[in-house]
Amino acid sequence: KFEWTMEAYSVLKKTFHLNSFRSNQLEAINAVLSGEDVFVLMPTGGGKSLCYQLPALVESGVTQGTTVVISPLISLMQDQVEHLLAKGIKAAMLNSKAGMSERKNIFNLFIGGFLKLIYISPEMISASNAARSAIGKLYRDKKLARIVVDEAHCVSSWGHDFRPDYKALSYFKTEYPDIPVMALTATANEKVRMDIIHNLKLNKPKFFKQSFNRTNLFYEVLQKKKSVIEEIATIINTKYRHQTGIIYCHSKNSCETTSARLNDFGIKCDFYHAGLSNEERFKVQKAWQDDQIQVICATIAFGMGIDKPDVRFVFHLTMPRNLEGYYQETGRAGRDGLHSDCIMFYSMRDARSLQNMIQRDKELDRQNKEHHLNKLREVVQYCENTTDCRRQQVLQYFNETFDRKDFGE
Ligand code: ADP
Ligand code: MG
Repeated sequence: KFEWTMEAYSVLKKTFHLNSFRSNQLEAINAVLSGEDVFVLMPTGGGKSLCYQLPALVESGVTQGTTVVISPLISLMQDQVEHLLAKGIKAAMLNSKAGMSERKNIFNLFIGGFLKLIYISPEMISASNAARSAIGKLYRDKKLARIVVDEAHCVSSWGHDFRPDYKALSYFKTEYPDIPVMALTATANEKVRMDIIHNLKLNKPKFFKQSFNRTNLFYEVLQKKKSVIEEIATIINTKYRHQTGIIYCHSKNSCETTSARLNDFGIKCDFYHAGLSNEERFKVQKAWQDDQIQVICATIAFGMGIDKPDVRFVFHLTMPRNLEGYYQETGRAGRDGLHSDCIMFYSMRDARSLQNMIQRDKELDRQNKEHHLNKLREVVQYCENTTDCRRQQVLQYFNETFDRKDFGE
């Protein structure tokens, strides 16, 4: 029990409209409110944001005031700030793209300590004295509650998304050793974690690791035949009558034709891809979310921000390009914790055509091509390995071991 336990639950209910914490959320929140450095490792969609957004609203922690959040993408920051404002939380973002007067406005709110959360891009920290001196002022006024580094793998050159500007973030612990820093990522690699701790100069961080094992998801790979659509239609009509699912397709065209053909089999289906207008996309998503459509045929453009709890199946009509993507896409199944199936239809032919697409891609330099081809090779290995347990293979990819006896098998 902590001083803030009651308050934390009340914020969870009243502000975030959630009933309970997921595992490790409250533990991470308690640690950072106690003034400790914290490292949170959770899969995408696991609920990392709450681990720092909720403490930002709790008044009775060891440190109080404004929470500074570093995030790598303007679109991510924008999305988060909009969500927070919609909940009535005082939040704003500072980035180098904003106009002069807007920036000045936000600076004033920030320096005055009027914001609960401020999102700042890493280049504002590495390149702008203004941002640093504003943070210094807040610190001297004892209104700097904590620093949050979201997508912290960006600080490591071993990570898949290294940002040089993230290196400058070590300055937080150097300048303000008594202000807790929370780092969050979904990248499970041990080397990357050590690198993050070292580069951010975290002080004996409490480590919270959420398993990547989704025990209610069942993975399967089926040989893709010419009659794959008929096969899918049969599976849906026998096994998943009146149940919702997603079919991931590799192209816009494939989404449309797959959807049309499944409709011919009497399955209520529609398609979703980046070629549709925002309005059309919203309409399709809503119809699916409201169960007016049973199945959505989509490219990987479909996913971000989707939170339908009862998705019973995710099929991949064509193999994905990498296993991280596969994990994320299949992760949209079974959010309610009930049994759900993830089936990938695999053929060597698809593997070769994806390989060709990567090789011909003019946007990629040689090194990047090599990287993407290696990722694709891992997917092929996964598909070709028909002896090891699928779950074991997926988890091994994220450096997690898994024991069948923990699973009741
Ligand atoms: P991450 O940053 O780990 O990828 P997010 O913080 O964006 O994940 O959260 C993913 C989804 O999970 C969001 O829709 C969020 O509302 C939901 N979520 C987070 N925590 C909880 C919780 N305790 N109960 C229910 N839903 C939650
Ligand atoms: Mg996140």
